Amino acid sequence: MIIASNFKTNHTRKSTKEFVLKVENFVQQNNLDVEVRIYPTATALDKFDVNKTIKVGAQNFYPTYNGSFTGEVGFEQLEEFGVDTVLIGHSERRHVLKESNELTAQKYNFAKEQNLEIVYCVGEPKEVRVAGIDAVMAYVWEQFAGIDLDYKKLVVAYEPVWAIGTGLTASDDDIKEVLQRLREKITKPLLYGGSVKVDNVGDILKIQNCNGVLVGTASWEAEDFCKMIEAAKK
Ligand code: PEP
Repeated sequence: MIIASNFKTNHTRKSTKEFVLKVENFVQQNNLDVEVRIYPTATALDKFDVNKTIKVGAQNFYPTYNGSFTGEVGFEQLEEFGVDTVLIGHSERRHVLKESNELTAQKYNFAKEQNLEIVYCVGEPKEVRVAGIDAVMAYVWEQFAGIDLDYKKLVVAYEPVWAIGTGLTASDDDIKEVLQRLREKITKPLLYGGSVKVDNVGDILKIQNCNGVLVGTASWEAEDFCKMIEAAKK
């Protein structure tokens, strides 16, 4: 099971460090065999001295080692902190920051060349969801254009846009159906994300083909995130 926390634009360097240490202690003390991922802001990245099951990764990067890309972070800067897992294709990057499928695929190929674990996010907006499952899958497969589904360090996160940061979670049946369709072509771990909370994570993790969750808002308190990690153990 993979339990991942996306900080989005939250937490400081100090509170990120405290969060990571609390989670690390919790996982160690309870001897939990859960793969934990934490994606803080770029400014809070650091070489955290954490055990191997916890990875601290990047929410974003520009597909370059270094160069002249004002305001961007390249691989040289991530490498400095030993980052080896990244999010790509998050709905806020696609829809709020208007990142194209082309740039997303470019980032994917670059991260693949660097041998990074990639949590690749896909998901449909509300108007596609109301059109039914075939429309949802057509939209989602489009987001896989140019993406190597056989990459060994690929993790896919199904995150319906309308469920992210809204408090609306997809129904268990909807999640099950999409994951089942994804599983027909993807052998890698499949996560669900979209308003996962402490009180629904247990049920979501029981859904067939669900190998974990990517959590935003409800994961920003270390105690709550630890409860979700514990739920994965059960
Ligand atoms: C996310 O940021 O990937 C996410 C799923 O956010 P939230 O849990 O807030 O919906």
